[in-house]
Amino acid sequence: MDISVIVPLYNEDESLPELEAWIRRVMEANGFSYEIIFVNDGSTDRSWQVITELQKQNHNVKGVCFRRNYGKSPALNVGFERAAGNVVITMDADLQDSPDEIPELYRMITEEGYDLVSGWKQKRYDPLSKTIPTKLFNATARKVSGIHNLHDFNCGLKAYRKDVVKNIEVYGEMHRYIPYLAKNAGFSRIGEKVVHHQARKYGKTKFGLNRFVNGYLDLLSLWFISTFGGKPMHIFGFLGSIMFLIGFIAAIVVGAMKIYALNHGMPYRLVTESPYFYIALTMMLLGSQFFLAGFIGELVARNAAGRNDYQIREEI
Ligand code: UDP
Ligand code: MG
Repeated sequence: MDISVIVPLYNEDESLPELEAWIRRVMEANGFSYEIIFVNDGSTDRSWQVITELQKQNHNVKGVCFRRNYGKSPALNVGFERAAGNVVITMDADLQDSPDEIPELYRMITEEGYDLVSGWKQKRYDPLSKTIPTKLFNATARKVSGIHNLHDFNCGLKAYRKDVVKNIEVYGEMHRYIPYLAKNAGFSRIGEKVVHHQARKYGKTKFGLNRFVNGYLDLLSLWFISTFGGKPMHIFGFLGSIMFLIGFIAAIVVGAMKIYALNHGMPYRLVTESPYFYIALTMMLLGSQFFLAGFIGELVARNAAGRNDYQIREEI
């Protein structure tokens, strides 16, 4: 099969027939063999009935229906597990992404050798309250992930080589960082294509402004996990040792100064009267705590299920 189109959806019944017809038109015009996998993320409207009807008319349509609403990332992950096409395309259900982009995305993966091609909604039809924070979000994501050529991490329209979707796991709300997940899994050829974007035709957006707060926290977690997840001691042990050392030296200095003053008949203060004593104490306490956190982290990492999962490209 050439192409799997994965469409996560939550309460989008009005858009679905149009979307299906449009994808079908593009696929038939280009002679692709394809499947459309609708993942119904616990919709409370008629979405699932609509999908069932579409499936009767077009056997390339497949559907998965969650019992409740889990979120876009879980929906994508389930779609990825089921995808059979050599190229996998993800697309929002709200008709904001255009199926006309599919042939070119397909070509970029199969002929230009990209692992992942992300859409770039260069001209967006969204309210300003969304487009401005989005710019900031993307700048941060570029910096942290080290994928400098992407302008639009969270674009719903993306194309993947099959290997990519079978080797990454999208969970929580990590759909915003799929290129970063792919990069961490060793897929480095990540490209971008300017895509047409339209205003939402039916229904309303499913994400509020808290997407930016959560998005930022998720980025921090991803960065931390990809940098230190496998070796927590390297950060906590390092910080802990340095802090403990500083505290220890400070404590010795405070003590030595008192002994010196005693031996030379100079006026002296109690050690506990010196502010440096408390700084030394705090540093040593925090230092040991950090060190312990690193050690416990190390024990956890040692037992993690995926500790020996490596991405192997080829073997002869
Ligand atoms: N979506 C989903 N589960 C959710 C929220 C959203 O499957 O819990 C789907 C939604 O139906 C749409 C896509 O994710 O197909 C993108 O959502 P939306 O258009 O609301 O996001 P925006 O375009 O505002 O970023
Ligand atoms: Mg949308």
